[in-house]
Amino acid sequence: MAEYDPNCISKKENQKLPHRLDRHEGAKKLASLYSTGKRVQEVICVYSCIFLMLINFFMILKHLRIDRISEVIFSAICGIVTADFSSGIVHWAGDSWGSVELPFIGKNFIRPFREHHIDATSITRHDWIQTNGGNFMIGIPILLKLTFIFYNSSSTEIQAEYPFCAYLFLCSIFVAITNQIHKWSHTYFGLPVWVQILQNYHIILPRKHHRIHHVAPHVSYFCITTGWLNWPLEKIKFWSTLESIVTYFTGCKPREDDLKWAKTS
Ligand SMILES: [Zn+2]
Ligand SMILES: [Zn+2]
Repeated sequence: MAEYDPNCISKKENQKLPHRLDRHEGAKKLASLYSTGKRVQEVICVYSCIFLMLINFFMILKHLRIDRISEVIFSAICGIVTADFSSGIVHWAGDSWGSVELPFIGKNFIRPFREHHIDATSITRHDWIQTNGGNFMIGIPILLKLTFIFYNSSSTEIQAEYPFCAYLFLCSIFVAITNQIHKWSHTYFGLPVWVQILQNYHIILPRKHHRIHHVAPHVSYFCITTGWLNWPLEKIKFWSTLESIVTYFTGCKPREDDLKWAKTS
């Protein structure tokens, strides 16, 4: 599919999008499957996650020792790399397998992946909750684990585990904000300057970099947090090897459902 590059539209064109979407039945149908129940789940997850982020941020600052800063920075970078890798695994799994027809997970968790491929700009029209609900949910168990460490350990034990805590904290933050970063990678107008600087220095997913994934049939560059792992994973043929293993054991072919929705027009 990909008759047009959805990442390269002008502001004028973006304003016309509702009319363009009228032409794609699949995109319209997928958007209509966003339910009230899903919305409620997203609201709960976003605010619970922010609450846990604040608690853990306070504890991280409270136990920070400047003499261990290099160790902490290294752990934090490892946390960000883990978040990037996780974004790739989740994105690859959501894009390549399963179907919107599956009970519960289909409409609630696979649907957004299908919608994003046939209408890549729809994410730019999603509000804060719809953009971040899914990823903030994944951040919650990591932050709960961290909270458990902070509130069930002595100061000496916390110091011993501090690099691991910094790792978990940065990993959870970057996991949670992944879809916001992804949304920014599709936003060509009105981005704050600081976001553009982070993109230009490849600290977060750059716009040009993410466009590689949006070339049909969407088989590469799945990492969408920083995108740092995309090139090395492509070089070792990580995704295609993983797909061959899944197909060998299950007999399922990757992206069957994705292709079905792409043809619905
Ligand atoms: Zn995708
Ligand atoms: Zn995208």
